[in-house]
Amino acid sequence: MGHVVLNADGATYRIAGETLVAEASLTVQCGTRLAIIGPNGAGKSTLLRMLAGLLAPTSGAIYFNGASSVRLTARERARMFAFVGQSDAPELRLLVEDYVSLGRIPHAGAFSRAMDREIVAEALHCAKVSQFARRAIGSLSGGERQRVQLARAIAQQPAVLFLDEPTNHLDPGARSELLSLVAGLNVTTIAVLHDLPLVAPFATQVAVMHRSRVVATGTPDETLTPLIVGDVFNLEILRLRHPSHDRDLMVFETQVPSLLSHPHARSA
Ligand code: ADP
Ligand code: MG
Repeated sequence: MGHVVLNADGATYRIAGETLVAEASLTVQCGTRLAIIGPNGAGKSTLLRMLAGLLAPTSGAIYFNGASSVRLTARERARMFAFVGQSDAPELRLLVEDYVSLGRIPHAGAFSRAMDREIVAEALHCAKVSQFARRAIGSLSGGERQRVQLARAIAQQPAVLFLDEPTNHLDPGARSELLSLVAGLNVTTIAVLHDLPLVAPFATQVAVMHRSRVVATGTPDETLTPLIVGDVFNLEILRLRHPSHDRDLMVFETQVPSLLSHPHARSA
């Protein structure tokens, strides 16, 4: 394993009397793909924004390569971190290629213009949006826009890529496709994921959040356990042998007690 890139040490975020993240501690090693999972409102986006240096912890600290991340300048941060948020709203009249070129701004002057153009073309290709290069962002579907935002982040050539629910506008097939594309980048990645079946195939590490706290960290095997998933998500987890491939399948079953206890569901 590589060195520790990011380290949260008791990172806490309080606002207006509410604790959105309470004493989160975790380390992210170089090359890791960390999935942050948890129910709605658990504090995932807030933790992600703290890790990315977009929010300063109200207590505790975040370290990037051993140095407190609040000391990074905005430009240093932009060179190191690419962030694709849940509700980023790019200017809709921008052409896709111009938008993706914005990813090069933090590196302005460091590369030749021809090199920058090549990096942008490569990012468009990588995110499979080259065919939209000359279209306005406003003309794209939600899923296409999500891939364009990823292309901008790729063009940024970050040390760490932050993604907040990067698949929420995509159809099921496109979700795993996007995540395998991200995995193929070989960039240290921290992603809030809401799609539990995609966590184990994608992530090398998982942080589980529940009610503002990181309640478990570890490999997918260590964290996607019946106990944790039952407790945090109220889901039953089943490991089944894939009928035709040499691997296990994880199935997440909703426990719906109100339905199960419905009088008509019971046999006499
Ligand atoms: P998640 O991404 O896990 O859904 P968030 O980190 O976005 O959760 O938010 C955690 C909780 O904090 C949510 O209940 C949200 O409504 C609340 N929250 C978010 N921003 C603020 C704010 N500025 N002031 C008060 N509460 C907030
Ligand atoms: Mg969120």
